[in-house]
Amino acid sequence: MADSVKLYTLGVGDAFTTRHFNTHVLMDIDGREVFLDCPPYLPKMLATNNREGTRQVEHTQYREIFITHMHADHVNGLEELAYLQYYVTENPIKLYAPQWLLSDIWSSLRPSLEESARGDGGLANFDWFFDAQPIEPGMDLGGFTVDFTETRHHPRCLQYKFDFGGVKFGYAPDAGVDKQKWAWFDDCDLVMHDAWFGPTDALGADIRNLHSPIEDLLSMPQDFQEKTLMVHYADGAYDDDPDQPSEDIGHYRLARQFHTYDLK
Ligand SMILES: [Zn+2]
Repeated sequence: MADSVKLYTLGVGDAFTTRHFNTHVLMDIDGREVFLDCPPYLPKMLATNNREGTRQVEHTQYREIFITHMHADHVNGLEELAYLQYYVTENPIKLYAPQWLLSDIWSSLRPSLEESARGDGGLANFDWFFDAQPIEPGMDLGGFTVDFTETRHHPRCLQYKFDFGGVKFGYAPDAGVDKQKWAWFDDCDLVMHDAWFGPTDALGADIRNLHSPIEDLLSMPQDFQEKTLMVHYADGAYDDDPDQPSEDIGHYRLARQFHTYDLK
């Protein structure tokens, strides 16, 4: 299994952020780069990161991507990536997700990508751009295994657990309140999890169907809190320093954008 695993946060914000980029993580597994989701404004995000961040990232490094669900702040960068490689489709980007989600991705992209601009006629297929890789729980991807289950969220959304041999990383960037799903991460060494700041009736319904309010997360045991970094958080989660959150978050920490977390 892997000797070195680093997690780099390209974005930590929620869907409405104007301060950060949408939650997005790069896993560096012995130098193999695997991305979690693919948010929009990708060129701007990478340019900003390469100015202000601590690790240089170019769009050509996107060779392997895991997808959690179809909300725009998680997948709309896929169309951008597709166009960035429009004439270089002999080396499609590997997309990992269950088959149902891979089908949804192409259903969403097809109207904008299907008509070919290459001048050779015919219609483009999903595999011009992406190498769809259907995954099953427990699958070995060489250097690590992946497990997943659905979170409480709409539409259907996944949380992932990656086992790198000796260390495990849990990722749930969009997840409502569900203590069983949180406990699914009990054997993880590090977790990145959705956190909702502010009123719980903010969207005219119970936000717990979509996100995890701090007051609910604070009911979790201390060891869960200590290993969990909050992501997908609101712009108001801190004023100047992520280590000084605007409300009591117990033993949790806010993930810092453009920051490397060493897992192994
Ligand atoms: Zn979502």
